[in-house]
Amino acid sequence: MTRSDFVIIGGGIAGAGAGYALANAGKFVLLLERESQPGYHTTGRSAALFSETYGNRPIRALTVASRDFLISPPAGFTDAPILTPRGVLQVGSADRAAKLDAAYDEMRKLVPSLQRLTPEQVLAQMPILRPETVTGGALAEPEAMDIDVHALHRGFLRGMTAAGGRIVTDAEVTGIARNDADWQVETSQGNFSAPVLINAAGAWADVMAGIAGVAPVGLQPKRRTAVTFDPPNGADIHGWPMVLDADETFYFKPDAGRILLSPCDETDSDPCDAQPDEMDIAIAVDRLETATTLQVRRLAAKWAGLRSFVADRTIVCGFDPAAPGFFWLAGQGGYGIQTSAAMSRVAGALALGRSLPQDVADLGLTEADLSPARLR
Ligand SMILES: Cc1cc2nc3c(=O)[nH]c(=O)nc-3n(C[C@H](O)[C@H](O)[C@H](O)COP(=O)(O)OP(=O)(O)OC[C@H]3O[C@@H](n4cnc5c(N)ncnc54)[C@H](O)[C@@H]3O)c2cc1C
Repeated sequence: MTRSDFVIIGGGIAGAGAGYALANAGKFVLLLERESQPGYHTTGRSAALFSETYGNRPIRALTVASRDFLISPPAGFTDAPILTPRGVLQVGSADRAAKLDAAYDEMRKLVPSLQRLTPEQVLAQMPILRPETVTGGALAEPEAMDIDVHALHRGFLRGMTAAGGRIVTDAEVTGIARNDADWQVETSQGNFSAPVLINAAGAWADVMAGIAGVAPVGLQPKRRTAVTFDPPNGADIHGWPMVLDADETFYFKPDAGRILLSPCDETDSDPCDAQPDEMDIAIAVDRLETATTLQVRRLAAKWAGLRSFVADRTIVCGFDPAAPGFFWLAGQGGYGIQTSAAMSRVAGALALGRSLPQDVADLGLTEADLSPARLR
């Protein structure tokens, strides 16, 4: 039995970020990951976008609070920049103009660089959009960024082990029980114990709670599909922004020389190794070809991942009110990468019994917004 200060279940971006913060606070952290590669599930399947206008109020605050770290991580965290310029155009037809106006009014307080573009301005920037797609113009977020997810995830894991933490891969958690002072965790790689267990098991977080005899938070994994395909011959797509439909029915963006496309599907799923569904791919292609002059002749890649939400679509982070030492870090939904830098600090602080980092509190976020107690 190996004893540590914290046992973390799950080596995705959430578990890695928490491990990084706690190890760097001088704690002995053990991170248990079922797969041989910690990014195998949702963390390795994202669209890698950083957008301060995406998600509800707490999510947007956590994204804004992540920007500084992602732009200027500590020395040695990574060799490559984590964020690179991309921009987003949220486009809509005339009957969506009021929705885009309202989003502009609400969000420009937090994101002053937002712009409201006319149809002519949108078409000048993205001539491949059909005029009827953009009769309501667009909300432009010029400071949205692409994220190097691999560099960020690896930076957290490397920073955790450099500070004395340990990662155990191929370690599937099969049993969790509490004795007087500790959680005892049984895995395929041996047994581990700690006074605090951090449940960062992604789509499996409610399953882990069930094994531990802790009430669930009502997590619902939802499948989302993505494909890539080659751009038109000779087209220079490098500087294209991401284009997102105002009703979130599709988005596309450049991705390593190809175009990444998603139909923004949210199909309820059990926790699993999610696979793309041919119907969702056909829907994605149809929506793209209706909205633009692009044509998809052959797919280069296709995949799906699970975005897991609780009822209010805000992340769950905090100690369970009824299970001493059981700490939730789940429900990252479609925002787990872009919020990860702030969530690393938030999870680290709350798991150590401290209050929220001041900059996060200054953005209007409270512990109650994140607490599992709100879901009971
Ligand atoms: C198509 C798509 C596009 C997305 N685009 C974006 C985007 O642009 N920007 C953004 O910020 N987010 C995006 N997301 C969401 C983001 O990817 C997730 O919010 C984030 O990766 C969730 O991280 P996680 O660590 O909670 O989960 P995961 O990465 O799934 O990690 C959980 C880990 O727990 C492990 N685990 C589970 N059960 C056990 C067990 N019994 N024992 C041991 N280990 C266990 C799993 O193996 C897994 O590795 C997207 C997601 C998808 C699917």
